[in-house]
Amino acid sequence: MPDIDKEADESASRLRITEIFYSLQGESRTSGYATVFIRLTGCPLRCEYCDTTYAFKGGEWVLLNDILSEVKKYDTKYITVTGGEPLAQKKCITLLKNLCDEGYDVSLETSGALDISKVDKRVSRVMDLKTPASKEEDKNRYENIEFLTPHDQLKFVICDRNDYEWAVAKINEYDLLSRCEVLFSTSHQQLKPQTLADWILEDQLAVRFQMQLHKYLWNDEPGR
Ligand code: SF4
Repeated sequence: MPDIDKEADESASRLRITEIFYSLQGESRTSGYATVFIRLTGCPLRCEYCDTTYAFKGGEWVLLNDILSEVKKYDTKYITVTGGEPLAQKKCITLLKNLCDEGYDVSLETSGALDISKVDKRVSRVMDLKTPASKEEDKNRYENIEFLTPHDQLKFVICDRNDYEWAVAKINEYDLLSRCEVLFSTSHQQLKPQTLADWILEDQLAVRFQMQLHKYLWNDEPGR
């Protein structure tokens, strides 16, 4: 028999949402594809270079079913759940599962500071390791690394040469290239993309260099 109380509880579940918008994915494996972004409100971190501080507070409570209805207005299979730090809200796990059940290609952008082990395996987790210049290095939850698979992506936002060398050391220490795709991007306006590209080539590193496409197209405008 169905558990009616549980079903009622699930249908009443809601998340605090800063924005839901349709744009081009600016980074990661699906860069360039039209994508619906669901930005959850709140983050326990305070990275020096954060470009979404407007998502720290505010937002609106939205029922999970209403989030799904909003997403379905757009003709794309790509959904990215982002923040803030989406996993700071427990019901995010349910949202991710529901989106996968609907057949979407779902990615999750997460800081790496919270447990990723409960995330639906169909989701591609795009997890940060916070570098020294982020000033949030001590929040890295290294236990997460063992859960990463080739379906996931590990991202380093590099601010300077020290960050770069730190990231290379972490790649070697945790044998990251054998676990999942590793992404290197620059902190916008802190390090020239060309400089990072040159370092990667000099060291013949098998990481994926990426530019944040949306910042070049729309100059980091919220909702784009
Ligand atoms: S984890 Fe992301 S949202 Fe949170 S402070 Fe850092 S960059 Fe900003």
